[in-house]
Amino acid sequence: MDIIAALQAKLGTDTVQGPDTADFPRHDHDFFVHTPEDVKLLGVCYPRTTEDVSVILKACNDAGIKVQPQGGLTGMAGAGVPLEPCLVLSMERMRTIEELDLSASTMTVQAGVVLEAVQTAADEAGLFFPLDLGGRGTARIGGNASTNAGGNRVLRYGMMRELILGVEAVLADGTIVSSLNKMLKNNAGYDTKHLFIGSEGTLGVITRLVLRLFPKARSVSTGIVALKDYAAVLDLLGRAKSGFGGTLAAFELMWPDFYRLGTTALGRTPPIPHGHGCYVLMETLGTDPESDLARFEAVIAEAIEANVAEDAVIAQSSKESTAFWSIRDSPGEWPKVFWPQIAFDVSIPTGQINDAKEELHKRLLARWPDVRVIFFGHIADSNLHLSVKVDEDPMPILEIDEVVYSTVGEFKGSISAEHGIGILKKEFLHYSRSPAELALMRTLKQALDPKGILNPGKVI
Ligand SMILES: Cc1cc2nc3c(=O)[nH]c(=O)nc-3n(C[C@H](O)[C@H](O)[C@H](O)COP(=O)(O)OP(=O)(O)OC[C@H]3O[C@@H](n4cnc5c(N)ncnc54)[C@H](O)[C@@H]3O)c2cc1C
Repeated sequence: MDIIAALQAKLGTDTVQGPDTADFPRHDHDFFVHTPEDVKLLGVCYPRTTEDVSVILKACNDAGIKVQPQGGLTGMAGAGVPLEPCLVLSMERMRTIEELDLSASTMTVQAGVVLEAVQTAADEAGLFFPLDLGGRGTARIGGNASTNAGGNRVLRYGMMRELILGVEAVLADGTIVSSLNKMLKNNAGYDTKHLFIGSEGTLGVITRLVLRLFPKARSVSTGIVALKDYAAVLDLLGRAKSGFGGTLAAFELMWPDFYRLGTTALGRTPPIPHGHGCYVLMETLGTDPESDLARFEAVIAEAIEANVAEDAVIAQSSKESTAFWSIRDSPGEWPKVFWPQIAFDVSIPTGQINDAKEELHKRLLARWPDVRVIFFGHIADSNLHLSVKVDEDPMPILEIDEVVYSTVGEFKGSISAEHGIGILKKEFLHYSRSPAELALMRTLKQALDPKGILNPGKVI
């Protein structure tokens, strides 16, 4: 009996769909990458329970069939895209919110719950789940965990790794490892959940999670500060960290080319006129509306008085705050003004970000004199974004990748701040990981998935 018939006999034809009924076009791409046309998929499974996942993986492992775990397919590194013949394991029907524990401030969910549904359920319970990113309406919480997603509030609340207390996962051979811990403190031996968080579905399939919830913020203060140069930006960051304590939630640096694209080029009036060296969008999430805004204004006023900041505007309403954010979020609108381009998401130690930016620009210009590079970033999280455009058709993507990632490696940075390795960055991983680290990754893969059935060809 073939694998599809064998699994259909156990789980039914609705859960296990073969090539005759499977809707492959829904499962053959993520945000950037497509399955090659000559790759034939075996079928798609839609488990509803952890036990279903276990049955599927055990059967595939026994038969040596490769399996492609998928969440919402909003990934940006091709990690969820099948690149060789395999069975797709879609988590989209595992979407139950199982428990909200108000005393522990936790939510226990199945891995296929959409991120936005988690945010809404927390909000309705009077609490807050901080992970937020552009793909919130489609990305699934198991995919967020598997990519260790970051997003807009990392500075205040951390990445997905910090937002998870417990994980249940199924190993390649079908073994269920349930570690649905709800406690902040638990040092009883190895914390195995971290094997599955950020490993992009290569070490196990996450089936359930215990998420951390937080109190809702009672105040939001947002402003844009103009500064002369990166040294002043670092000075402002120091003042913001000590002045706002734990309430500092965003510190987004925009260099002049970015600020021009996000405002004038898109028909928006810049809240601060052009002509400065750097622009920082700063936001705090606090607990006391009156004193928080006064503190926000005082820290900025002190920075202006000390000649650290050159100008500033503070949002007087949520509408104004949204308008400020629309400048920072403008890359979504760039197809109108800056296209095609290649977007990079790298990390550099915060103190070296400006040096790395200058070096990257110099090397790209040396190779492509007409290159345009737009820089911006969540610099307090060490996260630098750059978007590169050269006038060649097609764009020499691999050559540009090589220049960028080798430079990032020289600055001891990370070739992936948030989006993972998947397939797109796999051949550059050595720029951020030592031979010993790569060997340890292979040892873990071999130990947990000796037949190499899980997410074949990705990461390492
Ligand atoms: C507009 C937009 C904005 C974005 N902004 C950000 C951002 O700010 N920060 C950020 O970090 N990312 C961002 N992303 C990228 C993307 O949303 C994240 O990587 C997200 O976490 C992926 O979730 P997903 O459910 O779509 O996963 P998929 O794309 O389906 O899968 C991603 C990886 O996880 C694995 N996987 C999925 N589910 C499971 C599971 N249950 N068990 C094991 N492995 C699994 C897959 O095999 C694959 O390797 C953005 C994407 C878009 C489209």
